[in-house]
Amino acid sequence: MKIAVLPGDGIGPEIVTEAVKVLRALDLKFDIEEAPVGGTAYDAHGHPLPDATLKLAQAADAILFGAVGDWKYDKLDRPLRPEQAILGLRKHLGLFANFRPAICYEQLTHASSLKPELVAGLDILIIRELTGDIYFGQPRGRRVAPDGHFPGAEEAFDTMRYTRPEVERIARVAFEAARQRHKRVTSVDKANVLETFQLWKDVVTEVHQDYADVALDHMYVDNAAMQLVKEPKKFDVIVTGNMFGDILSDEASMLTGSIGMLPSASLNSQRQGLYEPSHGSAPDIAGKGLANPLATILSAAMMLRFSLNQPEAADRIETAVKKVLAQGLRTPDIYSEGTTKVGTREMGEAVVKAL
Ligand code: NAD
Repeated sequence: MKIAVLPGDGIGPEIVTEAVKVLRALDLKFDIEEAPVGGTAYDAHGHPLPDATLKLAQAADAILFGAVGDWKYDKLDRPLRPEQAILGLRKHLGLFANFRPAICYEQLTHASSLKPELVAGLDILIIRELTGDIYFGQPRGRRVAPDGHFPGAEEAFDTMRYTRPEVERIARVAFEAARQRHKRVTSVDKANVLETFQLWKDVVTEVHQDYADVALDHMYVDNAAMQLVKEPKKFDVIVTGNMFGDILSDEASMLTGSIGMLPSASLNSQRQGLYEPSHGSAPDIAGKGLANPLATILSAAMMLRFSLNQPEAADRIETAVKKVLAQGLRTPDIYSEGTTKVGTREMGEAVVKAL
């Protein structure tokens, strides 16, 4: 089992170190190799995704990724910015399916910004299409506006687009995932306004004919954003496009108590995957030992389940995380009165001990 470990910037190295400790504590043999990515890679090699890092990622069965980015790189040309590394990896590896489970652990119902009764027992899965939509669509750029409200003024534009096969494959991923859960899919679109999402809705409806055992409903994205905070437990699997998924999954993270709890998996059609916490590099707390490593540790569990075919080891890690929460250990982002505040390393080591 070959794992490429790409810690990245900010809190990336701190949280990835803890996840690797947890992997090494399992009685499994891994071939783990580390490489620079993001701003760290730019500083050392002049590019956020050096060739050697990309080759290592391509040759691995799975990639454990920390986070990239720091304000100090904001003035670089866009192709050299740290965030391009993650977009590049998604594109080169064809990682089109992003899984973001939002689970509210029993012990953290009070850490959520919503009332405990709204989030207690929450377990939803957001499946976000990851290689299409307005984030990748061409053409894009800046120009002098040829028409519109202010012809002749400077304007910027991006292109939202999806092809039928792109929607078909992500819809299948969602229906298959729902079959392993509560058999309900909500497809989120904006078909009332956007052509792209009318196609999305039509294709999802067609694919649904192959999954009669799964219930499907459609929801506009503005309503979905509202329902997520009004009655989040009514969702099972949400499937949506790249941009809507980006926004809704961050919103869902707050239901779970902290973005520091939210793992993610991005898979291609061979089930090779990149596993990372849903949060960024948190430059505001980097190097202080304050970051919550649990999202990264839970991402490692997803890696064992989805790419490395080790579901029992994945279960063991998830159980260990629950145990540590039950012991009352909390990093500052999930701390509440009556619990014990710990740092990044203590939290990682507590999970190892619980294993
Ligand atoms: P962020 O997710 O890094 O941080 C948002 C807030 O959440 C901050 O207050 C931070 O301290 C807190 N936070 C995040 N992770 C935490 C953890 N594990 N434990 C405790 N608190 C945590 O988002 P941002 O501040 O908008 O972005 C910072 C940088 O990260 C930017 O350069 C951005 O482009 C980048 N980013 C990278 C990724 C990625 O690598 N996949 C994703 C999102 C943002």
